[in-house]
Amino acid sequence: MRAAGMNEDAQCEACRNAAISVIVDDDDPADPYRVCEACAARLRHRALRPLEWFNLAAVHGWTRYLLHDDFYDQDGEATQPDTDGYSTDRLLAPTISEARASLPRMVDFCVTRWWLDAPEFVALRTFAPTDPLGEVARRAARGGDRLLGALLTIAANALGPVAAEWVRAQRDRALGGGLLFDWCEAAARCLPAPEGLDLAIEALGRLDTRALAQAKGGLLWFRSACVLDWIETHAPGSNVTEDWGRLAALSDLDLARIRAWIAAGRPLSLVALDALAAFVPRAGQAPVFRRLDPALRGVEDRGDIEDLLHLARANDPSPRVMRIADYVSGHLGQVRIESGL
Ligand SMILES: [Zn+2]
Repeated sequence: MRAAGMNEDAQCEACRNAAISVIVDDDDPADPYRVCEACAARLRHRALRPLEWFNLAAVHGWTRYLLHDDFYDQDGEATQPDTDGYSTDRLLAPTISEARASLPRMVDFCVTRWWLDAPEFVALRTFAPTDPLGEVARRAARGGDRLLGALLTIAANALGPVAAEWVRAQRDRALGGGLLFDWCEAAARCLPAPEGLDLAIEALGRLDTRALAQAKGGLLWFRSACVLDWIETHAPGSNVTEDWGRLAALSDLDLARIRAWIAAGRPLSLVALDALAAFVPRAGQAPVFRRLDPALRGVEDRGDIEDLLHLARANDPSPRVMRIADYVSGHLGQVRIESGL
């Protein structure tokens, strides 16, 4: 923390009332908070009033250490203030009904949510699409990388093709900031096919093996069989994890590909079995599965799946194959298939 310079005559980012007098750089020196003395004290004691938390999270994102969800609930009320007599002093954060009256306030509201859903996107779409785009682009240019993920999600779900040029320009920043998953959703919704997927695959090619393993999940947003081709050339020869199968299940997978992968043996046979298991809805499955609700294409008879499970067991009677094949076999009637059989 340091004192603000003489040229810091703008308003405190938290209360937006007093003048800036302190720069708090405790949790991110590259993107410090510019606040008044009273707000700096409350910030350090995790005791901001809800409106102050809201205003700061709107500028810097809520995933910052001093603002994160261990210390504040989604409406900005402190949950473990390090001070006696904490009070919101009725300085509440705006509700969505209040925020939607103004575009900047509505974007503030969106970037302070722990997750975004239909009500926020519907509210944003009541504005002309170029207006939110200007607001999103302005904030991305001004804010730190932590804000970019939420802005890309807004572009994907409330803006669409009008944001194409802005989305293209964010790719390398998203890659550097570990936000390729969010960028891919925006690319899939805002860029024409196959440009978005091509740009994503080119970006993944710049990552080392470990980073690639984490970032590849973004490809699910494209729902494209081209991702299956990419899996065939990039799945690791050993220690292939279940998320490869989940990615395949979300990428327009059909039974013919499952058959080819089981015949090909490891690692693709394991990816195929994990993909089959992923088509069985179950509690604890990633929320994106419930949202995208993928179904296996090209199944005319569920007995064909059972035949492939027999083949997988015969080719590779390992504990992992037996366990997954038995699981799918035991839930054969629940495997989501496109024809609705
Ligand atoms: Zn203040």
